[in-house]
Amino acid sequence: MKDASNGSGQPVPLMAAWNTESQIHLIVGASPLAAARCTKSLEAGATPIIITPETVDMHFTLSEHISKGSAQWVKREFQDGDLTSLGREEVDHVVDMVFVTLGGNHPLSPHISKICRRLRIPVNVSDSPELCSFSLLSTYSDGPLHIGITTSGRGCKLASRLRREIGSFLPANLGSAIDRLGAVRRRLWEEDNAAGLSETALEVDDDDTSGQSHHFNALVTEGDVAAAKTRRMRWLSQICEYWPLRKLVSITDADIDAILKAYNSGRDTSSDTNCVNGISGVSEKGRIVLAGSGPGHPDLLTRATYNAIQNADIILADKLVPAPVLDLIPRRTEVHIARKFPGNADQAQEEFLQMGLTSLRKGQKVLRLKQGDPYLYGRGAEEFDFFRNEGYTPVVLPGITSAMSASLFADIPATHRGVSDQVLVCTGTGRKGAAPNPPTYVPTQTVVFLMALHRLSALIESLTAFPTEDTERARTLWPKDTPCAIVERASCPDQRVIRSTLENICLAFEEAGSRPPGLLVVGASCHVLHSPNDGQKWVIEEGFHGLEELDSDLEAALEK
Ligand code: SAH
Repeated sequence: MKDASNGSGQPVPLMAAWNTESQIHLIVGASPLAAARCTKSLEAGATPIIITPETVDMHFTLSEHISKGSAQWVKREFQDGDLTSLGREEVDHVVDMVFVTLGGNHPLSPHISKICRRLRIPVNVSDSPELCSFSLLSTYSDGPLHIGITTSGRGCKLASRLRREIGSFLPANLGSAIDRLGAVRRRLWEEDNAAGLSETALEVDDDDTSGQSHHFNALVTEGDVAAAKTRRMRWLSQICEYWPLRKLVSITDADIDAILKAYNSGRDTSSDTNCVNGISGVSEKGRIVLAGSGPGHPDLLTRATYNAIQNADIILADKLVPAPVLDLIPRRTEVHIARKFPGNADQAQEEFLQMGLTSLRKGQKVLRLKQGDPYLYGRGAEEFDFFRNEGYTPVVLPGITSAMSASLFADIPATHRGVSDQVLVCTGTGRKGAAPNPPTYVPTQTVVFLMALHRLSALIESLTAFPTEDTERARTLWPKDTPCAIVERASCPDQRVIRSTLENICLAFEEAGSRPPGLLVVGASCHVLHSPNDGQKWVIEEGFHGLEELDSDLEAALEK
């Protein structure tokens, strides 16, 4: 089973955002730390009561709060009865939270901590993690967005540095963008609900432990009318998942209105909020490059594609082209991101081809940027053909395909002497959503399934059992104990690998939730570098570290 701890054997703290509005918080002490706790309580809508004798020097912020009346002062030493008498009437006068700021060596600290625990009052004692039932986080806030960090008491300086670095990485105005997108989401949900299209509740919890539901990228077929009608909600989910943050924060109410109208009528409008930057210079004769951008990490671009990015007048990028690659695009360059989402692929494709053609006719340098390799499930050749027929033969640049690199970054060698001598790359989704024929079992084969995770259980079923109507039974079934792995967001910072067997992988994936894009690798090669741990049905590994060491080598070389 999945390891519930953080790998160090220590339990993981239960992180939560508490609503403490109108609560009573006791603060024992008058030091600068007590002042900081008092400010935090006030920010959280609680009423702080400071307990400290008049003889103690009071921090000026505390005095200020007391004189303004936002905090109360009990002018004496703490007494046990304070815990059950100073609180709100509605909770029988028990206080809601206690901060002891006297330090761990003060005799009152363990004493108060003990009674609080007995009374189930959350208690925090400064500098004494063992006396705390909770600790405060180092937080970054921007409007409705709050990010909390804890190093579990190992390094508060480091926590505050991490907070600053995370904060500086986020674009300005993210808070208001979250407000705006949240309002749209509610509006769409209400409209869809009023029209009887959505029966599900509007989820307001931020807990993403289950990620996207594993139906997130489910294919919408033409006949699936209900799904098509809730397409605006799906579109919103998709832009929240895929658009670069830099682009999300620049979205305006007018942009949203225009896009929603376009999706209502099922047509494009020329309002074109997908355009990120402005139009730049125009070259003599239009030319087009069709390039692959690799699996995600910007260092996995080829130099040819990088140069094409720097030289293009207009870039038409797939939805899956990751943000760090888009970040390499010069500000002056016009960028469009495909509005492709399940059920809308053909329309988005057509829109892009026409956009490319218009730019070429204006004499611009067009870069059609595709994810991974352009000729591997990327409709690359269709686009090549389209532009060639229009008189603009594209230059095609290869990209590192996710099919090979995702398995590599999950420590799965596609071939390995004595284990696997061949590789099969297939799709889990056929044309118009039809299920493709499952491959026959070859013990020495590594099979990589792209676009398969939204129908994982059906795929695994088809590999391991014959449907009742299949009387020919011409292929060999894959044994249920065949090793396999799901690799998601390969080469991105949030890469995740789930290692299991065909028997257990569906359960593991259901429990973990989906984190698109991802693929499935099946075959004995999955166990070459990671043999299964006894008794564990699956193992989940988080994060991508493949290129970090090289980066630091490079930095060291530059410093020399
Ligand atoms: N041309 C692309 C594949 C496009 S099809 C390539 O060569 O990689 C899209 C599928 O690629 C997704 O459904 C997923 O299965 C896979 N995929 C793309 N990027 C991925 C990544 N970073 N990690 C894991 N799978 C990825």
